[in-house]
Parts: sequence; structure tokens; C-alpha cells
Amino acid sequence: MCKFYAARAENATIWDVEGNRYTDFGCGIAVLNTGHKHPVINSAIQLQLNNFTHTAFQVIPYESYISLAERISCLVPISGEKKVAFFSTGAEAVENAVKIARSYTGRSGLISFTGAFHGRTNMGLALTGKNVPYKIGFGPFPSDIYHLPFPADILGVSVDESVGSLERLFKSDIDPFSVAAIIFEPIQGEGGFYVMPNEMLIKLRKICDEYGILLIADEIQSGFARTGKMFALEHYSVEPDLITIAKSLAGGMPLSGVCGRANIMDGPSPGGLGGTYAGNPLAIASAHAVLDVIKAEDLCARSRNLGGRLVEMLQNEKKIIPYIADIRGIGSMIAIELRDPKTNQPAPELTSAIQKTALEKGLILLTCGVYSNVIRFLYPLTIPEAQFEDALKILSNSMRESLSALSASTLDAGTNPLEVVAK
Ligand code: PMP
Repeated sequence: MCKFYAARAENATIWDVEGNRYTDFGCGIAVLNTGHKHPVINSAIQLQLNNFTHTAFQVIPYESYISLAERISCLVPISGEKKVAFFSTGAEAVENAVKIARSYTGRSGLISFTGAFHGRTNMGLALTGKNVPYKIGFGPFPSDIYHLPFPADILGVSVDESVGSLERLFKSDIDPFSVAAIIFEPIQGEGGFYVMPNEMLIKLRKICDEYGILLIADEIQSGFARTGKMFALEHYSVEPDLITIAKSLAGGMPLSGVCGRANIMDGPSPGGLGGTYAGNPLAIASAHAVLDVIKAEDLCARSRNLGGRLVEMLQNEKKIIPYIADIRGIGSMIAIELRDPKTNQPAPELTSAIQKTALEKGLILLTCGVYSNVIRFLYPLTIPEAQFEDALKILSNSMRESLSALSASTLDAGTNPLEVVAK
């Protein structure tokens, strides 16, 4: 957590109560793809504020909810007739996707991945595949939930191994005809930005179709232009049955949703889904404006452009910082993984040193990963050009300085190639 209090913010900049200025490469954990206080979004919220702030949609409906559902339905990469339900938080969207899947299939089993993050409610945590700090001490969790190893070369897990463990799971732990859904993130957010291979999704889809299992894509972190397309799944050749959305959907207002095939969405009985604040009118107004801004400013193209430049800069850094073990991601959903080049062990100390140094220089970075050795870059896609270039310079200096400082103290100085290059 940053050791300062926020006073105000605009686009990619935050000022603290003492007047210090920071560039925000965290976006309140992937919420502000359209930046802080975008004027179009601000006006939309203000307009709604003057009309009404709350009715509880299931008591008195409002048109903006319906029209947003229609817009989302047209955008999500699922073909055929679709329906949408709105909620408030990401975890709530996941909870409701599970409720929909269970009521439609009449089955209870759920499968997710190691390293996955699906929220901090009891079901969200049960699906989450990272114990510390999320799950530890909070059990017991709902039963009938299983985790598959996430397929990623750097984790030493191939697609075949991951599929193999699913087949073993069906033999040893749960009958495939008792599984309601498999839930996955196209790019794991909190887990470390590991990208789901297309080949894995093709295999999962086939298995799901064979046994009547639903496929749920959690796009809560990867959606809304972050990956250079509206949804990360547009980079894949497979369609899920349900998609969960939240975060950048409403540019800082609490709004989430589940969108899916109409017949599946109709699984729960009337009144089975909802919530007092679900689809809050201010958040809905904000989401309409977010969609307008993404289109008007072509933020998908900007996401690809900024991400490409970031990756190029990181590849240059990797030549002199071999602790950068991996640069991965799609569009502007990019991260680096830091490992000791000698032992290949995760380097969480270096990771947090880079984060700390960058913050001292006015750049807010977020880390992630099961071993806390990944830095993810989640700048607003609306960031001004000059500010983005400055931030890349701060990032480069922070990485170099942190490596030098750490090698002088804890690391074996003789193994630090940055020093060799610098001499
Ligand atoms: N799913 C994913 C993929 C997420 O990244 C998050 C939040 N980091 C959640 C679910 C939970 O969202 P929330 O914190 O809004 O409940």
C-alpha cells in the first residue's frame, strides 16, 4: 500500500495531500482504462446524479440498465442470443456466474486453475488458486471445487499436462457429468499475467462440449480494451458460455456483470439473482460513457501501441538485466517476471525494490504473482504521450538502480551483469 493519502487525480496523474505528483501505472487495480476523471464520464455521472441515484432495479427499473445490457451483449465474443445481469463487484459477478451455471446444469462441481483469482467472497476464494494471502485462515470453503495446474512454460506446465490432470481428476475425484463449469482467466490477473494458450482453450471447449460442462471466462481484469481488443477472448478462437465483467467496465464506479447465452442465463428462477445496489444508476451511466470513450478515442488501438512500446523498452532492458526472466501479456496487459538468472528462483525482493524505487521517483507500480515476483503495468490507456515516455524512463532507472542496490547488499555482486555492463 502507498504510504500517502490521495487528494485528487486526473487522467494518469494522482496528487497526494502534500501536493506530490505520481503517475498511476496501477489504475486502482485495472479499473481506470479510461483514466481518472475522464470529462465525458464525469459529465455522464453528474447528469445521472441530478436525475436519481438509486431505485433498486428489481423494484423500479430504468432504461439505462437495459440499454447497457444491449450494448454489452453486442460486444462480448459469444455468438447467438445473449442476456446480461449487472451487479456491483467482481466477486459478486463470479458468485452469480456460478449460481447461473449450477442452476442451468443442475450440477455442483466447479473447476478453476492454480494461480487464479476470482474474488474475496467465500466462493470467490474457493475458486482462487493462491493461498497466501487470500485464503489462509478463512476456510472452510464450499466443497466440490478443484484446481487444474495453469499451463505456462515458465511454470513448467504444458497444455498436455494440464489437460492430463483434468482427465485424471475425472477418474479420481469427480465424474465429469457432475461438473457445472470450468472457470478461467484469459490472462491471469493477480496470478501473474500468465496468458492462457489458445490450444488449451480449444481442448477445454471440446471437453466441456463432450460432458455438458459450461465454460466461464473471467474477464474482470482483462476486459475493456486492456489487451488491445474490447475483450481478451477476441484474441482466441474459442467462445465461452458465460463471461464475467467488472473493473474498467464503469471507470471507477462499482459495477460488474455476467453476460452469457440467453438459455443459460435463464437457468435461475425469477428473483434468484439480484442485489440492492446491483446495476446502480450512477455506475450504469458511467459505463455507457466508458464504452463511448473507448470507441471515440480508439483505445483498443492505443492499447496495442502503448503495449508494443513498453515491450520494446523491456526487451532492451532484458539485455542488461537478466533478472527479467519473462516479458509477457497481450496489448497493454503486460508484465515482467523477475528471477535469479543463476538459480531460476523467483526474485520477490528485487520486485518490491523496483516498486519502491519507482514510487520514490513518482511512478506507481503494482506487483502480482504467486511468488510476488511479477510487476504488472496497468496505466490508463488515455495517458498523455509525454507522460508515458517519462514513466518508461523512470521504470528503466528504477530497475537498474534497484538491481545495483540489491546486488550490493544481498545478492552476489559477482553475478550482477548490470555492474559488468556499467563498468
Ligand atoms: N476476478 C478477477 C480476474 C479479478 O482480477 C478480480 C479483482 N482483482 C476479481 C475477480 C474480484 O473483483 P472484486 O475485487 O471487484 O470483487
